[in-house]
Amino acid sequence: MIEIKNLVKLYGTNLAVDNISFTVNDGEIVGFLGPNGAGKSTTMNILTGYLSATDGECLIGGIDILQNPIAAKKKIGYLPEIPPVYLEMTVREYLNFVYDLKKSTLNKKKHIDEICEVVKIAHVQHRLIGNLSKGYRQRVGFAQALVGNPEVLIFDEPTVGLDPVQIIEIRNLIKSLGKNHTVILSTHILSEVQAVCDRIVVINKGKIVANATAKELDDISGVSSKSKLKVLGNPDTVISALKTVEGVTEAVLLDEKFDEADCHAYIVTADGSDDIRKKIFFTLAARELAILNFEACASSIEDIFISLVKDGKAEGTEGGNN
Ligand code: ATP
Repeated sequence: MIEIKNLVKLYGTNLAVDNISFTVNDGEIVGFLGPNGAGKSTTMNILTGYLSATDGECLIGGIDILQNPIAAKKKIGYLPEIPPVYLEMTVREYLNFVYDLKKSTLNKKKHIDEICEVVKIAHVQHRLIGNLSKGYRQRVGFAQALVGNPEVLIFDEPTVGLDPVQIIEIRNLIKSLGKNHTVILSTHILSEVQAVCDRIVVINKGKIVANATAKELDDISGVSSKSKLKVLGNPDTVISALKTVEGVTEAVLLDEKFDEADCHAYIVTADGSDDIRKKIFFTLAARELAILNFEACASSIEDIFISLVKDGKAEGTEGGNN
């Protein structure tokens, strides 16, 4: 478990992390997301014991990284954005080296064999790291994080620079590691958190602006209150009818062609979280405008993110997740 409590980091007078608190529960994969300069790296660096905090606490499995860094670091496997690998070593030599550095007491051969199996690098273990593809070097980076079997895994931008196939492989690897570890990963790739994470913590200007599942974020942000309709009838009549519906803020005709005569598609935006489908249905039916199709528009995580960092919505979720 990772607990961040009232964490503050000042660089001189620059408040990089402004009293943030959140928890990553055992067995959870949490995405730590934010725009450039939001405070992600600063938080990750404090979490891994690389930077000191101005105030607050970071507990790893109950141990304060600032008070007791050696014991806390034993519980952490860290993969920085640039994997800390030695290109002139073979994979096996490097993992043996990391094992020695971490002073692990597990059975060396068995433990490293197991890690190689988990991250699927057994077949390249005798090759020089410098001769491996970027995706495989990243796997070696994951392998070093797993040495010593730490309960907490911290990954910084783990898929940056990989090709699409490698990205999918690495995401699957993170998901499988999440079954036996507590994982926090920082990323600015929004689809990544959607694909991999159980929960998302969004930081903006040093403050937590959301701490929720992707589904909850969708509800909180309100950006999903758009619907797409296919309606039979004159577009001007349809648009003016839609605009009479209480809660509808916008109705826009789409440039889509259909086989049916006088059939058009529209995007309707509503102001609140109320489901206005019933009102739209009866309003159009009263004017004999037949709805042929009605679907809620799924908001992309990009829309949600922009809405969160732009106007600070989701304040209700600020702070811990408990
Ligand atoms: P990015 O995605 O661009 O890496 P980030 O979310 O990781 O951004 P941080 O690197 O943590 O953000 O930076 C947070 C704030 O602290 C920014 O305003 C940054 O300029 C500032 N900052 C970071 N490191 C230092 C430093 N060593 N000295 C002074 N200010 C710093």
